[in-house]
Amino acid sequence: MEVLVKNLKIKYVLTCIAVTFVVSLFISLAPINVEQCKCGKTEETDIDERHVHKSASKHTKHRLAILVPFRDRFEELLIFAPHIKSFLDKQDINYHVFILNQIDKYRFNRASLINVGFLEVKGEFDYIAMHDVDLLPMNDQLKYYYPETGPLHISSPELHPRYHYPTFIGGILLVNRKHFLKVNGMSNKYWGWGLEDDEFYVRLKEAGLNVTRPPNLLTGIQSTFKHIHDRNHRKRDMAKCFNQREVTRKRDRQTGLNNVAYKIENTINAKIENTSITILNVMLTCDKSITPWCLCDMLNIVSDKKIKNQSNLKTNVYR
Ligand code: UDP
Ligand code: MN
Repeated sequence: MEVLVKNLKIKYVLTCIAVTFVVSLFISLAPINVEQCKCGKTEETDIDERHVHKSASKHTKHRLAILVPFRDRFEELLIFAPHIKSFLDKQDINYHVFILNQIDKYRFNRASLINVGFLEVKGEFDYIAMHDVDLLPMNDQLKYYYPETGPLHISSPELHPRYHYPTFIGGILLVNRKHFLKVNGMSNKYWGWGLEDDEFYVRLKEAGLNVTRPPNLLTGIQSTFKHIHDRNHRKRDMAKCFNQREVTRKRDRQTGLNNVAYKIENTINAKIENTSITILNVMLTCDKSITPWCLCDMLNIVSDKKIKNQSNLKTNVYR
């Protein structure tokens, strides 16, 4: 009896080994019918994925990097990516979308993310569009062409749904490589919402760079752009901590492109519907001796009742 059980056990083990061998053989020989993973690999050679036009024209000479400062705006990104593709594919330009995803523990820093994006793409691209993820261009007359003579402000104050002061240059701004370098990029001192674009306006002005805007559009503030921003769901971080208010109302001559401190944690090439994008996971570093307000808790907030309404009343403090 004991011998019989032993024989059965051996047979069972041998059968298991044989089945495992045959199954692994099948798996290794089977054709791979899922898309090959390009994980972590950049698509530098994949020109179609990078929206390169086949026709050579005056505009295709230059390459545009759409730089989108980003954190926790996934729903907006799902709308933005396919929209910007269908919008820009009607124009004869070469472009690629970069999502600058801030992954550190500090408050959001739109300007530093744009500096980082510029440094990461400047070897391959001739001009940038600083582009809010929630501002969708709707009028096909808005051309994202190379801004030869000076920055081109696409979302001008006469057209932007929310901001109407004359020196406003936020939302969507195109700048060529030479000009962005000339002004040392943007200030790195703006943690939290607001004013970094106004400081950049002063940099441009001091450098003698003239901002132009799309001429003669008839669609006005109602229908030139769609601002997909729910103010209750996506609250603006307007807290002012330490001496933030005083410092961020002054022109910054200390920080910019030359000293933005960061690390790219990783790069992901992804597709949203039919749109290829590159996500850069950016870890910003904060020098708390210069900008202690990069972290701000209840204890440090300098209270000001007026701040609550500031986004409605936003005016350019540099005027
Ligand atoms: N942003 C983000 N996450 C944030 C805050 C801002 O991704 O927590 C990005 C996003 O691209 C957004 C842009 O920064 O469109 C400008 O911020 P916001 O929309 O709050 O400014 P607004 O122009 O509406 O006052
Ligand atoms: Mn917005």
